Amino acid sequence: MSSPNPQVQSFDLVIFGGTGDLAARKLLPAMFHRFVDGQIPENSRIIGIAREATDDAGYREQMRKALNAEGPKAEKVDAFLKQVFYRSLDARKDAGWDDFAALMAERPDNVRVFYLSTSPDLFIDICTRLGSHRLNEGASRVVLEKPIGRDLQSANQINDAVGQVFNESQTYRIDHYLGKETVQNLLALRFGNALFEPLWNAEHIDHVQITVAETLGVGNRAAYYNRAGALRDMVQNHILQLVCMVAMEPPASLSPDAVRDEKLKVLRSLKPIDASNAAHLTVRGQYRAGAAEGQGVPGYLEELGDKSDTETFVALKTEIANWRWAGVPFYLRTGKRLPERVSEIVVAFKSVPHSIFDASAGAIANNRLVLRLQPDEGVKLWLTIKHPGPGGLRLRHVPLDMSFAEAFGVSQPDAYERLLLDVVRGNPTLFMRRDEVEAAWLWADPILDAWACSGESPKPYTAGTWGPSASVALIERDGRTWNDGGE
Ligand code: NAP
Repeated sequence: MSSPNPQVQSFDLVIFGGTGDLAARKLLPAMFHRFVDGQIPENSRIIGIAREATDDAGYREQMRKALNAEGPKAEKVDAFLKQVFYRSLDARKDAGWDDFAALMAERPDNVRVFYLSTSPDLFIDICTRLGSHRLNEGASRVVLEKPIGRDLQSANQINDAVGQVFNESQTYRIDHYLGKETVQNLLALRFGNALFEPLWNAEHIDHVQITVAETLGVGNRAAYYNRAGALRDMVQNHILQLVCMVAMEPPASLSPDAVRDEKLKVLRSLKPIDASNAAHLTVRGQYRAGAAEGQGVPGYLEELGDKSDTETFVALKTEIANWRWAGVPFYLRTGKRLPERVSEIVVAFKSVPHSIFDASAGAIANNRLVLRLQPDEGVKLWLTIKHPGPGGLRLRHVPLDMSFAEAFGVSQPDAYERLLLDVVRGNPTLFMRRDEVEAAWLWADPILDAWACSGESPKPYTAGTWGPSASVALIERDGRTWNDGGE
């Protein structure tokens, strides 16, 4: 039997922003785990780049701390770090680039992956210099971290500038939500089972809700976050990508463009929200001092140390205006300093057309399919069954529960592990194409404009609660409720 984790071809992964938070917390650990599983050929290198004046040895020590490996994995750290290198250069200046290009020339046959894990202001400088050193030629790929712009216009500027150097097939716009097992499982569930697809439409689905809730505040990312806000940081990218995976038509195959064509159609079918309906369909919030995990925590403005109208919470109701989904509301919600760290998609089915049971049996609860992305990835299908025993017939609502960790006895790989190797393999299926990013901004920009024109501040909510009460009203006025409590 072939290995489930075959080696990829030899590569150089160059991380611009190699000393940053994302590199230390996600990218290097992801590569280390793939190394431990034997997927990284010996001839491959991981090259960190930043301005900090350190060298290979200094960078390896930083990364050793970041990996924080224990047990049998700790024995593999030294071997892994031998494949890790560092070059100090400023992306905005020419010094150091010749030396870096010479390092790259040492392994001409390696696939080259340039991961731009820096502020997006540097993307254009980095790509221009990669191009002038002809590092964009051959098997070269560039990975762009979110955010890609702060509106359609700035996204176009970045995409145009990157596009001068790398063609679209070399450009990987990462959205790590697409690398999560549950999200890929949505494809398997929908298109690998005969059960769901016949019911996957407005006739049988009452509504869909997607929640991405964090318990953390903005912490040391306040400067970035204050320019972005929840809609740009979470909804325009991650949550809309989840909407696409739920709502898209069956693609003809899993080829990258077949999948991305279908996602694009969903984005283009989102009903517009603008100044005429934003007050009715959206709720913005900003946390005040409260509690998180039993501890008192400051409010957003105290953390920022300034005044701000940036939203740390958004809830909204949208629809997909096509034949499959007409009239089915999609309730989307995300925020910081909420009571639980949870990301989930809930597909709520309609009720049965007629109940044959007496009132004494209890109510028939609607079926729900709950796809949990974090913390424990898994799927629950809520069904109505009979309460066991010889008494009268009483109905109960119970889940068919599949926690992936329990079912497969393995912890799930981090999304970056999968996605980084997909870039090396040259498989862009789980990355966003330029037209998807544009379509997402085309939908998000009028919401941002409507908020800006309204002159209204976000509604306050206490840290540790589920956002402003208006968010509850947004769904309850339709006779539905948020799936709080993780069921
Ligand atoms: P960060 O911690 O601020 O790191 C920025 C990195 O860029 C540092 O290594 C910094 O090192 C380097 N850098 C800054 N200016 C440079 C220049 N002129 N030339 C070369 N290197 C330069 O940022 P981060 O949190 O890792 O985030 C990186 C990107 O990923 C951002 O676009 C962010 O929005 C995105 N992102 C981050 C996360 C996350 O969890 N952190 C999640 C999703 C997306 P020096 O100062 O030494 O140069």
